Amino acid sequence: MLSYEFKRGSVMTMAKVTFNDDLCKGCGLCVNACPKKILELDKNRLNNKGYHPAACTDLDQCIGCAFCATTCPDLVITVER
Ligand code: SF4
Ligand code: SF4
Repeated sequence: MLSYEFKRGSVMTMAKVTFNDDLCKGCGLCVNACPKKILELDKNRLNNKGYHPAACTDLDQCIGCAFCATTCPDLVITVER
């Protein structure tokens, strides 16, 4: 699980991006969907299915758009704003 809180602009905006790693099949759809290009498959980790799970590489750049969550076919990602 990965959680994150951030500030956006002059208004304090709280968002939390959570990955249920063991549901991820490493398909990469979320990587392509992210407009900030801050998601990638983590080549340093394997989940319990044997896949490299998706992860965020630069949490400061996340805009909380939830494109990643809506694109994922396996409901791995949750974005809370
Ligand atoms: S919420 Fe948007 S910006 Fe943040 S990781 Fe997902 S697709 Fe990228
Ligand atoms: S989080 Fe979902 S869309 Fe992203 S690689 Fe894993 S299964 Fe695919």
